[in-house]
Amino acid sequence: MGTTPVFKPYDSDQLQLLPPSLEELVSVNHPARIVKKVIDEIDIRPINRKYKGGGASSYHPRMLLKVLVYGYLTNTYSSRKLEEQVRQNIHFMWLCGMKTPDHNTINRFRSEKLSGILKQIFSQIVLLLAEEGIVSLKEAVYTDGTKIESAANRYTFVWGKSIKTSKDRIKAQLDDLWKYAQGVAAEELKDPSPCQFEQVNAEQVRQTIAKIDQALEDKEADKKVRQKLNYARKHWPENLERYEDQEEKLGSRNSMSKTDPDATFMRMKEDHMLNGQLKPAYNVQISTQDQFILNYSLHQTSTDYGTLPAHIQQYENLYNTLPKAIVADAGYGSDENYACLEQKEIVAYIKYNTFDKEQKEGIKAFSNDSLHYNESGNYLVCPMGQRMAHISDGQRITTSGYVQLISRYQAGNCQGCPMRGVCHTGKGNRIVEVNHSLRKHKQAAKERLNTQQGIRYRKQRAADVEPVFGNIKSNHGFKRFLLRGMSKTEVEIGLLAIAHNLRKWKA
Ligand code: SF4
Repeated sequence: MGTTPVFKPYDSDQLQLLPPSLEELVSVNHPARIVKKVIDEIDIRPINRKYKGGGASSYHPRMLLKVLVYGYLTNTYSSRKLEEQVRQNIHFMWLCGMKTPDHNTINRFRSEKLSGILKQIFSQIVLLLAEEGIVSLKEAVYTDGTKIESAANRYTFVWGKSIKTSKDRIKAQLDDLWKYAQGVAAEELKDPSPCQFEQVNAEQVRQTIAKIDQALEDKEADKKVRQKLNYARKHWPENLERYEDQEEKLGSRNSMSKTDPDATFMRMKEDHMLNGQLKPAYNVQISTQDQFILNYSLHQTSTDYGTLPAHIQQYENLYNTLPKAIVADAGYGSDENYACLEQKEIVAYIKYNTFDKEQKEGIKAFSNDSLHYNESGNYLVCPMGQRMAHISDGQRITTSGYVQLISRYQAGNCQGCPMRGVCHTGKGNRIVEVNHSLRKHKQAAKERLNTQQGIRYRKQRAADVEPVFGNIKSNHGFKRFLLRGMSKTEVEIGLLAIAHNLRKWKA
């Protein structure tokens, strides 16, 4: 026979003489305390200005901001879950002073009041970190990007190319109808085909169909043509209006989602179905230092190189200063980015696309980069020692509008050259195009990246900015935005960045 176990007595209905204070229930080092301390310190006038004034009193924006920041810090992103938390979690209850905003209030505050101004709040927190000596805004920063899936429906593509094809089809079919009508009613339709519009639009199509209708009014027309005309009258102007609206939303992009027109279809690293399917997403760029986020920006392009100038400009706008150096991977090594950083006197520790390969294997023989350039004579020297004379200069404009200057050089005589097979496959004498500005930037970047400092920065980059994304996406489970639209998703990234910095500050 064992001894009888003894349990501590408890009584759920026990009344206490004095109710415990929530303050006592929140431990001294609890992360909720850093949220309260920091949010109490910052200037929230940018948020206050979003309130119209008058009417019923609102929940205090500082309290709602604490709820959201602490929510993002504890992986509670949905407004309904936050509503639950402010009613049952002592840390939320303490931050709220026992106020209980519902999910609509929380969501409206996040979507409307924080939209467009959260960066001002975020930058104040970074400035507090700088005041404490935890980060330095003038030191080097590490920049990288990741794609985060939009809240949009995954299968609601709108493709720029499909719109163009559909518009071209309408134009061609309208042209056929016009020609048919001219055949039947030559007298009534003497004008040349109005379907030769540069850009077909709803109004032109309406007018053209009306003219055809009028011309065929009392004529014997083919039944199928009548049916086609009925269909065209009913659908084409409406379709074209929709295409115009979609084209305006697309801007320079090739794709967007119907349910979140700001989201662009991108290839994601996380491909759970392993089918390479594109998903509606946003490109999030951050700059970090010691794993603290100093700057974040949201972009609609899937590549990183076009995002850097705007990202850096925002850094300057937020802090009125610039970092002394930027360390980034080869995705940012473009002529435009190197030139932008040079102009802002930021040292670029940025790889270019062939840097890693060149480190292992050297510059590829016969490649454009392997050809020696004689600057004073403005000619290249080919692998057989032949002079390649300068033949012309031109320009190439990138998708962001940056103008690259391109020089062309041509070998004097490639006929009979023993290297011809490995040198080039084109007809005639080899012609190469050289962007001298990019060539110089690449050379300078290569030298910098191979200095002691450059090697240190390269190693640190992998341990600085990359784990921040890993932490947000894998450890804190934020793999998809909850809100739709650029301004709202930007708020979500801002809240994640603030929560990340406070979590790290506390640690
Ligand atoms: S093929 Fe022409 S460009 Fe190439 S090595 Fe020979 S001569 Fe030079």
